[in-house]
Amino acid sequence: MTDFTRTKVLFHLPEGVIYLDGNSLGPLPLAARERVARLLREEWGEMLIRGWNDAGWMGEPCRLGERIGRLVGAPAGTVVMGDTLSIKVYQALAAALELRPERRVILSDHGNFPSDLYMADGLVRSLGRGHEVRLVAPEEVADAIDRSVAVVMLTEVDYRTGRLHDMGRVTEAAHDAGALTVWDLAHSAGALPIDLAAAGADFAVGCTYKFLNAGPGAPAFIYVSPRHIDHVRPVLSGWLGHEAPFAFDRDYRSGPGIERMRVGTPPIIALAALDAALDVWDGVAIDDVRARSVELGELFIAEVEKGCPDLALASPRAAGERGSQVCFRFEHAWPAMQALIDRGVIGDFRAPDVMRFGIAPLYLDAADMVRAAEVLAGIVAGRQWEQPRYQERRAVT
Ligand SMILES: *Cc1c(COP(=O)(O)O)cnc(C)c1O
Repeated sequence: MTDFTRTKVLFHLPEGVIYLDGNSLGPLPLAARERVARLLREEWGEMLIRGWNDAGWMGEPCRLGERIGRLVGAPAGTVVMGDTLSIKVYQALAAALELRPERRVILSDHGNFPSDLYMADGLVRSLGRGHEVRLVAPEEVADAIDRSVAVVMLTEVDYRTGRLHDMGRVTEAAHDAGALTVWDLAHSAGALPIDLAAAGADFAVGCTYKFLNAGPGAPAFIYVSPRHIDHVRPVLSGWLGHEAPFAFDRDYRSGPGIERMRVGTPPIIALAALDAALDVWDGVAIDDVRARSVELGELFIAEVEKGCPDLALASPRAAGERGSQVCFRFEHAWPAMQALIDRGVIGDFRAPDVMRFGIAPLYLDAADMVRAAEVLAGIVAGRQWEQPRYQERRAVT
């Protein structure tokens, strides 16, 4: 059984804060502070350029890919780190489309994160071969997969509502129609049990700054199934995905296996923070995390519904159909969230009217959920959101 009192003290959480936004940016693991400081001092500071060989920097994207792979059910040699999630979406989608050259449809759902859809639009434009991004309601995806579909591109957990797709079922439906899948695990990695190999996923991507707590702008990961990796031709053919980067050949030849999905120089400082953030997972069973997340989510919903009758649950009510977040619609969601943050309960707002609360059992407990709901009830009942200082919209919500 995972000891969550042990994991909670591995994070720096500011005094008086209940943090319900770890699905946007996870908090600082204490070990990351030390690990990054040591890297700056002993590696970058002392080794300079020699760090690439002597400190093993060049191997970090694959070494950390292996660590992430163990959290998402990916076999060895199928995950590599680098770039941001949007870039990895582009890379995975381009690779998948090239494996289905005779088909023209990218199927996704209305709830998908805009950046994923923007990247798909941009790719379609630059391919110039008449591809179409087709969007349907999340619950209609499986039935909408026909033989025109090249790729089903979905985010497993809807960023706004927390609605959870059935990865195994949708992947099977895609394969039955001869289509491939690209799964975005942004809100799944570190939150839910994932078994990419068992689900038969073709490609998967995800970020590490949400439930994996690796820090703002931490690098993304990409998974390519062993069935495809040797057939994938990288669209972003950067030198570090080359078979021999330091041969400086004029011609691009893709590197072995998953290495070909690397693009350019890896972010070594950010990868050090990720390494430390992943240490938190030693001794943690993801099934325990899920069970506890369900418990905390149910508790929070019950408490909010008791204290705030004006708020409407926007997430699926059945815990098995939700990721690790709970959302409510409220007409005054933006100022109410500002008032809540002002009182030390940090969630976030998603347009147009959603108050979103991420549930991360590594550092949240039942008392936090009860207290957060109580503070929220006070704001709603006392109409504290009406104060002028909570009305101003900021750039980042
Ligand atoms: C958070 C998130 C992103 C963010 O992409 P970046 O390139 O890392 O900024 C993309 N897609 C989904 C589904 C997300 O949840």
